[in-house]
Amino acid sequence: MSLLVVGSVAFDSVETPFDKIEKALGGSATFCSIAASYFSDDVKMIGVVGDDFGEQNIQMLKNHKVDISGLEIVEGEKTFSYGCVYRDDMNVRDTLFTDLNVFEKFDPVIPDAMKEIPYLLLGNIMPALQLKVLDQMTNLKFTVCDTMNLWINITREDLLKVMKRVNVLVINDSEAKMLAEENSLIKAAKKVMEMGPEYLIIKKGEHGALLFGEGKIFSAPAYPLETVFDPTGAGDSFAGGFTGFLINEKEINFETMKKAVIYGSTLASFCVEKFSTQGIEKLEKVKIENRFNEFIKFSKVD
Ligand code: AMP
Repeated sequence: MSLLVVGSVAFDSVETPFDKIEKALGGSATFCSIAASYFSDDVKMIGVVGDDFGEQNIQMLKNHKVDISGLEIVEGEKTFSYGCVYRDDMNVRDTLFTDLNVFEKFDPVIPDAMKEIPYLLLGNIMPALQLKVLDQMTNLKFTVCDTMNLWINITREDLLKVMKRVNVLVINDSEAKMLAEENSLIKAAKKVMEMGPEYLIIKKGEHGALLFGEGKIFSAPAYPLETVFDPTGAGDSFAGGFTGFLINEKEINFETMKKAVIYGSTLASFCVEKFSTQGIEKLEKVKIENRFNEFIKFSKVD
């Protein structure tokens, strides 16, 4: 099945208690597309970069069979850049800088041949851009959307419009509380569901994820890793693995989503083991299946 992924393509500068890296490949569309590529040979990515992006990064995406014909390269401009630091608590990230660069004038244009794709993953970007993408799609069956605290704070109205038009919203626990203006996570989830999405996933970092929908709740553990090296991109890898798995299922409902949450968590667990996209670049289907099975084993009760 084909999947259209829209989001940021970035250079990330990340500092953790273990090490730091500068100008490494990142961005929501990048992590989402690579993670989804393990489930679909037809992932199409829409985004924008500057002329500093580099052939090596293009080649890596091509190696994953990600169709980048919808990736705009703007001559004379720089790629979006993001900097963050994790101190002792790896669940908390402080943003150091967000240099929009090419994103300032980005106007996503979906090529005609891609407008009819039924499956859409709206990676984290400005909600106004997510709306522009939704407006161009003609045959949507299933849309997953990610966002972040920045947009909840500064473009709430646009985000609320997006939420009414997607099937699944994926956010983390602090974002859910911020969006709902509510400190109890479960109450916050109920309020967020009333804002539009049919299903809601709340990621809790090293504490797993919750799925809400059809009047039910599913609680998934996180993979018990000894060391989380760099959490950047974990949320996007989750969204890519989750959506990639689901588009091949006969039915998309709460039961299949439970499995998808575990696949999403599996991809996220590989992502956090290394810097940038390195943790998910060189996976094999068998490695993913093995970890998925371990996940199930860790939380199964007879
Ligand atoms: P995650 O850790 O999954 O929440 O996402 C990390 C990625 O989000 C990084 O690779 C960043 O480049 C990207 N990112 C950070 N801030 C923004 C933003 N304001 N808009 C779009 N992408 C962003």
